[in-house]
Amino acid sequence: MNRCFEIKYKDKHTCARVGTLETVHGKITTPAFMPVGTLASVKSLTPEEVAELGGEIVLANAYHLYLRPGDEVVRDFGGLHRFMNWNGPILTDSGGFQVMSLAGRRKISEDGVVFRSHIDGSEHFFSPESAVRIQENLGADIIMCLDECTPYPVSREYVEESMRRTVRWAKRCKESKRREDQLLFGIVQGGVFTDLRKECATALREIDFPGYAVGSLSVGEPKEDTFRVISEIVPELPGNKPRYLMGMGTPLDLVEAISHGVDLFDCVLPTRNARNGMLYTSKGSIQIKNHKYFRDKNPVDPECSCYVCRNFTRGYLRHLYVNRELLSYRLNTMHNLHYYFSIIKEVRRAIKDGTLEKLRKEFQMREESEKKVAN
Ligand SMILES: [Zn+2]
Repeated sequence: MNRCFEIKYKDKHTCARVGTLETVHGKITTPAFMPVGTLASVKSLTPEEVAELGGEIVLANAYHLYLRPGDEVVRDFGGLHRFMNWNGPILTDSGGFQVMSLAGRRKISEDGVVFRSHIDGSEHFFSPESAVRIQENLGADIIMCLDECTPYPVSREYVEESMRRTVRWAKRCKESKRREDQLLFGIVQGGVFTDLRKECATALREIDFPGYAVGSLSVGEPKEDTFRVISEIVPELPGNKPRYLMGMGTPLDLVEAISHGVDLFDCVLPTRNARNGMLYTSKGSIQIKNHKYFRDKNPVDPECSCYVCRNFTRGYLRHLYVNRELLSYRLNTMHNLHYYFSIIKEVRRAIKDGTLEKLRKEFQMREESEKKVAN
């Protein structure tokens, strides 16, 4: 599993690259966007639909699946792939982010973290070792170290102590890993402090992982800080290993981060926004509930080739949304995911053709014009 990542093309002007990441459940092309399937389901879609839209890898969540139905239950079904009938690669998040966001319901120590379930208040304990065990039971192809996702803003002292504990936990995760068919990724922490991020990246490189993630970004810090950290830290991660930016972002965020050398993304935006009636288009996003779409016979995006845009009008989608029809969730999710996967494909093409800078400027202009409309 050592040579699981191969770079095929590099952009001449930026740090972007196109590669392939090999797992026991198949290869994916990077940059890749992972739709979020927290509870072993990309909400409202079948695995076949996710794949048809262009999904190559999905993300599931260890914290949620540990609570319901239980990682041992999933294991007894033959693991996540069989349980959810998705035969492609899967990545599970360790649950660090979810546990840490249970503010006031958790207590961190060197051993691990004691927390209360968001469902029934019952008490649980995650250690680096148990987080790996849970993810081994779930059986995803890529699993994540238990880390502390540091909130924003917090003091430098807090971030420093937390980051160093995350490094010690990462070492324990690697030492406790038993399965040979899973790739364990380390997670870089350190908040908005460049030197702490660099210290973390260096320490994780020494432990040596087959891939590295950048965590705790887009947690409330100013956008300038987000991209300062990305531009400073991604180059510190080994160039021959995949780099994963956790939990973000907007279409422009993806394009920007890819140009800094990021290979993997996950984000709830396309799917969650879909369920809330926000649809992405090549001219900016729209709120389908708006009255102006009442009699609109156009597709969501005339430039989109997805099933939804080929077959349904804005007026119909608005009607489904305002009546809370179940089909609304499905169609909106299909369109938004298709949009995200199309961006990724467009970016891959631009990297090969050497036109990524031009594409990035187009996305910047698109977002700026959207802000003007919103204001
Ligand atoms: Zn569409």
